Formats: sequence, C-alpha cells, structure tokens
Amino acid sequence: MDPDIARGRLAAERADASALIGSMRARLSAVVDAAVDEHADDEHDPEGSTLAFERGQLVAQIERSTERVAEVDAALARLGDGTYGRCLDCGGDIAEVRLEALPATGVCITCASRRHRSRW
Ligand SMILES: [Zn+2]
Repeated sequence: MDPDIARGRLAAERADASALIGSMRARLSAVVDAAVDEHADDEHDPEGSTLAFERGQLVAQIERSTERVAEVDAALARLGDGTYGRCLDCGGDIAEVRLEALPATGVCITCASRRHRSRW
C-alpha cells in the first residue's frame, strides 16, 4: 500500500478511536456519578446493577479502544522505519487486501490464524 495512503488511513482510525475513548470516558464518569447517587443497597436495586453492568461494559470498551490506538501507533512507527506491510511474525509480505481491510495489522493472514488470542 502507498505509505501516504496508509498514513492517512491510520491517522483517521486513530482519530476515530480517540474520539470514541473521549466519549466513553465522559459516559463512564456520568455512570459513576449516577452510581454514587444511588443507595448502597445494590442487590435490591435494579438500577444500581444496571449501572454496574454499564460501567463494566464501558471500561472494557475503553480498554479495547486504547489497545487499538496503541496498535495504530505501532503501525505508524513501522511506516516510519519502512517495515510497514511486513509480517511481524514470519517477515513475509502482508497481503494488500488485508492491509486495506485492517490498516493497523502487523501480521499476515497465516500468522493471524495461528495466533489464537489475536483478534487480527
Ligand atoms: Zn506471517
């Protein structure tokens, strides 16, 4: 992929993820404030457990988006040192179509399917 195009796409993805983190953090602090206003008796308080659930969801989403920003940053660093598009695991070329779909990916499809825990 053309490095300038890749850079643009990564920058856009980073901006999206950062904006998402910002709005989820704002929502999280609203949820936390609402929870503080609730009575401590969560067990008999459906509203309280809903808030706890939402808080857990938001924390998980913020963590995922934060990881995503880190992955985009790593991809940008690889663009900088000329290793972008090369698989981190096997050193082979990552297919163009894969980079189109997942500009921040660091591994080829073969290695991605080998990495059980990897989302990519
Ligand atoms: Zn590979």
